[in-house]
Amino acid sequence: YVEGSPKESDMNFTDAASIKLKLPDDEDEASKAVLVKNLYLSCDPVMRILMRKPGDETSAYFTPYAPGSPLSGYGVAKVLDSRNSNFKEGDLVWGTTKWEEYSVITALESLHKIQHTDVPLSYYTGILGMPGMTAYAGFNEVCSPKKGEYVFISAASGAVGQLVGQFAKLLGCYVVGSAGSKEKVDLLKSKLNFDEAFNYKEEHDLNATLKRYFPEGIDIYFENVGGKFLDAVLLNMRVHGRIAVCGMISQYNLDQPEGVTNLMCLVYKRIHMQGFTVRDYFHLYPKYLDYILPCIREGRVVYLEDIAQGLENGPAALVGLFSGRNVGKQVVSVSQF
Ligand code: NDP
Repeated sequence: YVEGSPKESDMNFTDAASIKLKLPDDEDEASKAVLVKNLYLSCDPVMRILMRKPGDETSAYFTPYAPGSPLSGYGVAKVLDSRNSNFKEGDLVWGTTKWEEYSVITALESLHKIQHTDVPLSYYTGILGMPGMTAYAGFNEVCSPKKGEYVFISAASGAVGQLVGQFAKLLGCYVVGSAGSKEKVDLLKSKLNFDEAFNYKEEHDLNATLKRYFPEGIDIYFENVGGKFLDAVLLNMRVHGRIAVCGMISQYNLDQPEGVTNLMCLVYKRIHMQGFTVRDYFHLYPKYLDYILPCIREGRVVYLEDIAQGLENGPAALVGLFSGRNVGKQVVSVSQF
């Protein structure tokens, strides 16, 4: 199990020659298995939470990885063989797979057949997959946004944040994002249509920074980072503001979460703060596709990706999420179509 910041050396890269793919022992499971060739794998911050020792408060919600077994996560794959009537050889799918060249998948409820191939297949790890659904549901269902409102997004250039910002702009909101480098800040303003962006690593007083960008306060905060971000935002929220707690990446490597001191602002300002997980919103996926596909095709929403080549470069790509190495959605390309 991993403690502190994850390192490449926490993972082993094993030559396929020493591994035999095998069907599950359970006959019922084996009878519906699908064999896939993995094309793209998704690096997601939640994978760090799955590396924790079982027994802490997260175990009730996430099943931790078993040490020594392949990582699992979202990916895009091609079906090579199928015992399940819903999938056939040649189908392209996205959903939960493993960090391997080839995988036997039995958890078919999380596997979606890809219908639209005029967009990059890697998008099904991001804008057309779990992070896209997270941004769509988190913004529209949790934040109750209205035209003209003031929106702040942390980790704004990442897989989820870059979409929340663009959705908010399409609705007519004023949007500011924070990110950890000048390159990311420039991209937020020049490519992703944010009104303003700042490099939080150069700001020593986040409260003062937010006052500069939001002299009239924040209506909506899309929380990706937690800790000192949340504390500073609470001081700058407007009355009846909404905070959607999507994640708190600054806390994932800590033994003890940082304390937040300004929670009484929730009371004074009658703020609605709600945590959510995307798994409660996948029923909206068809509706989301109807919304997002035309946006992509007409160039109204763009998507930044950072694609590492080769499974052997997966561990570095995954741990890079925690130092901000990724510029946009971090993907690992395993194999060509
Ligand atoms: P990103 O692509 O945004 O990658 C993570 C980014 O977080 C890094 O690039 C880095 O950007 C920033 N970061 C890392 N460590 C810190 C830190 N200590 N302080 C501040 N920023 C940090 O990831 P995602 O878009 O996939 O995920 C964003 C958030 O959404 C995460 O908290 C994740 O857990 C959560 N999430 C929640 C879901 C849900 O169902 N609730 C589903 C999917 C994601 P920078 O250079 O800007 O620092």
